[in-house]
This record gives sequence, C-alpha cells and structure tokens, in this order.
Amino acid sequence: MTDWSKGAAWMGGEIIPIAEAKIHVMDWGLTRSDITYDVVPVKDGAFFRLPDYLDRFEASMASMRLAPGVTREALRAALHEMVAKTGLRDAYCSMTAARGVPLIHGSRDPRNCGNHLYAWVVPYVHVVKPDVLDRGAKLWIAKSVRRIPEDSVNPRAKNYHWGDMTAALFEALDEGYDTVALLDHQGNVTEGPGFNVFCVSGGRVITSDHGVLHGVTRKTVLDMCAEIGLPTEMRPLPLEEMMGSDEVFLSTSGGGVAPMVEVAGRIFGNGRPGPVSERLHELYWEWTKRAENREDIAYAA
Ligand SMILES: *Cc1c(COP(=O)(O)O)cnc(C)c1O
Repeated sequence: MTDWSKGAAWMGGEIIPIAEAKIHVMDWGLTRSDITYDVVPVKDGAFFRLPDYLDRFEASMASMRLAPGVTREALRAALHEMVAKTGLRDAYCSMTAARGVPLIHGSRDPRNCGNHLYAWVVPYVHVVKPDVLDRGAKLWIAKSVRRIPEDSVNPRAKNYHWGDMTAALFEALDEGYDTVALLDHQGNVTEGPGFNVFCVSGGRVITSDHGVLHGVTRKTVLDMCAEIGLPTEMRPLPLEEMMGSDEVFLSTSGGGVAPMVEVAGRIFGNGRPGPVSERLHELYWEWTKRAENREDIAYAA
C-alpha cells in the first residue's frame, strides 16, 4: 500500500508516489541547472494565492525560453489532483520546468531539448522551524560569498543556482546561526536561501528592490502593510542601515513572516521579536484563511 501522506509527484501526466519520482541523468535541468521552479503553499486544505505563483512561474519559463507545452489550466488541474491524492492539508507544492535531454545526441543547442514540466508535493516545510522561532531565530550575514549578480543569473526566476546560498548556509551553521542573508557586491542586503529580507526602521518597512526574487510572501507583506497603514520602501538596503534598524524579519512561502532576534552578533528587541514583525507574522496566517486568497482542494471523502 502506497503511503501517499509522504507526498506525490506529477510526471509525464501521471501521479506517482514521491519516492518514485526521477529525472534523467542527462537532463540539462540537472547538468546545467537549466531549470526554473516555483513553490506554492497549501494551508488548511487550500492553495494560498495560487494565481500569483502561476503568474510568476509562467514569467520565469518565458524568461528562460522554456516551453514544456502544458497550459496554465492543465497545470492548475494537475496540482489540484496531485495534492488531493495525498490528502495533505498543509503542504509544500513545487512545480518545475526543465530544459530536458538533447533530442539529437551530442547537440549543444538549447533549442534541441525536450522541455518538460513536472510537479511534486510533500508535507509543509518551514524554512525557519517553529521551535527556532520560539527560542528566537538568528540570522548570519555571509562573509565568504556574495549573492550571484543579477546580470549573471536572473534572480526573479526561481532557480537551482544555489552555490552561493549553500556556501553561505555552511558559513552560518559553522558560526552557530540558524540561517543566512547574502549581500550584493555593493554591500546591500539581498536575500537568503528561500526567503526575502525586510527591516523595520522608525515604523517604515524596507526591502530590497533589486537582486532578489519577487517573493509572493514579499508581495503579501507589502499588501498587508498597505492594509494596516504601514509605509513601505523598496530600494537598495545597505547592511549598515539594516544593522541599525529596529527589527529584521524574513518572508517565505515556507512559514510566512519569520522575525529574527539576532543578526550577525547584534541583538534586536532585547532578544524578542519586534512588534511589527510579530503583527505581520500573525496577520500572514490570518490572510491564509481569507476566502479571496484561497483555492480549495477537492479531497476525496
Ligand atoms: C522562494 C524564494 C524566496 C521567497 O519567495 P516566496 O514566493 O515568498 O516563497 C526568496 N528568495 C529566494 C532565492 C527563493 O528561492
């Protein structure tokens, strides 16, 4: 008996157990990171803001000239069917478009590959675990590595070029921190492995305008700020400015708004999440319950 609660994949038009999902060793998605993906959260049995994730995924595919030949409606239906199959009500749902294997042996022409699209779903993933948030999460700022420049790899298409992120994570973990943010070559804060970074300064909520993925959670934070009347700024964020700010938090589909209580040796808010971060953290979960943000999944009875 298949234990679907561990997850499922949708590949070649079929839904299979997650443990059986495989890609070809010669797929350029693997050998060249020639791949883009997106991750939509499932909360309490519904996709959260699915149209925003599908919009971004379509834009990412177009920017990389990936054409796997799956319509938006077919993808949406597949995601629904796949998640329903697992019965998972809180889930991490990934969709991926890969360049594929060259159709002519030895061809080095990216136009001659069999682009394909697959998806997979597993139980919900918290980028910063709830118990870490409870004891106070600590963010490191990478010293040995900078974020890949945006004119080298486009950060607005979610991608598997994680060499900078993984090196930075090793550095942070070696230093005893929970996670890490990376700087650009001008010393501005960009983002970290799977999240955007914000600071709060004198009641203003600030996040980078460049060199980052336009996170759907980042957008949700900006929308929530508009709703509760907090001014926001999207602009370069120098590290010194963030270190002198009142609060720092991360935004990610894996857990929403994650307040930080320490950044690279500086304690914020006496080691407790600041009031703005805390409010946005709560509000994010409230927003996942609002009908206009939800697309219910039809599980089998
Ligand atoms: C996924 C991701 C984010 C966060 O985006 P969301 O849409 O909010 O999940 C930020 N930066 C990077 C590099 C990411 O991969």
